[in-house]
Amino acid sequence: MKRKIFFLTIISFIFIFSISLLIYAKEAQIEGENLNVRSGPGTDYDVITKVNPPEQYPVLEESGEWTKIDLGDHQGWIHQDYFSITEESESQNDNENMMEEESSDNEEQDGTSSNSVTNSAETYEQMDNSLAGKKIVLDPGHGGRDVGAIGASGGFESDYTLKTAQILREKLEEHGADVYLTRSNNQYVPLTSRTTHTNLLQADVYLSIHYNSTPELPEVQGIDTYYLSKRDQQLAEYVHGGIINETDMNDRGIEQRDLHVLRVNHRPSLLLELGFISNETEERKIQSRAFLEAMSRGVLMGLEQYFR
Ligand SMILES: [Zn+2]
Repeated sequence: MKRKIFFLTIISFIFIFSISLLIYAKEAQIEGENLNVRSGPGTDYDVITKVNPPEQYPVLEESGEWTKIDLGDHQGWIHQDYFSITEESESQNDNENMMEEESSDNEEQDGTSSNSVTNSAETYEQMDNSLAGKKIVLDPGHGGRDVGAIGASGGFESDYTLKTAQILREKLEEHGADVYLTRSNNQYVPLTSRTTHTNLLQADVYLSIHYNSTPELPEVQGIDTYYLSKRDQQLAEYVHGGIINETDMNDRGIEQRDLHVLRVNHRPSLLLELGFISNETEERKIQSRAFLEAMSRGVLMGLEQYFR
């Protein structure tokens, strides 16, 4: 019996791994409007068709500044300046998450076959939690050439959002959630890629993480939460309420707002403005681990309430 479970586990690992590869194979996310697709890697080659955002195509090969994409019935080359590549490292993390979740479904384990199996007992204990197995996409706002707002101390919003997402990820993973980041380092990711990922994954919740700034009114402080679809109002109330409870930050309330990442998102989604980095005191607070942990606890509580 034990042997059978062991083999079933191995087979499901292989299955899940290959599915993940299918979904997460390197893709080019088109950013340039009416982007020329050429028959070869250079402007000397003929334009065979045009592509537009937010389309995305599997990458076949790369040659210097040019990348060959698969258009379905034909193939062509596009220049590297007009698209971004779906992160490979990110997809590896996703695989790990999925494999860990899979191993926790089996009560009996060989215990020696791999590292992820060793963790299964711990993960299993958390299975009664309402967050267990929920797919949460965390989207650290901005990144790369887009630094976002600049804080009173000169710090970049894009750095603060990434740090925040990383700590929030730890917290949610501790409680059994499968967490995906739209970027895991300081890279530029176009808005459409951020939401395509979420829709593709059929995420249970998408949270876009930002910090606010009003340099002309440096005394302004506090946290805002935005939602768009009426469906997500409850989610906004729970998450926002959790954050305010845990952080004691100024409550600027929740508001329905037509923001791009919410509009093109087919999944439950919020945009969180977690404080004003144009306010010196608040920026210092945001830089502290204590704040990030309190905020993460608040999000966790809100999500638990939402999924209950
Ligand atoms: Zn922002």
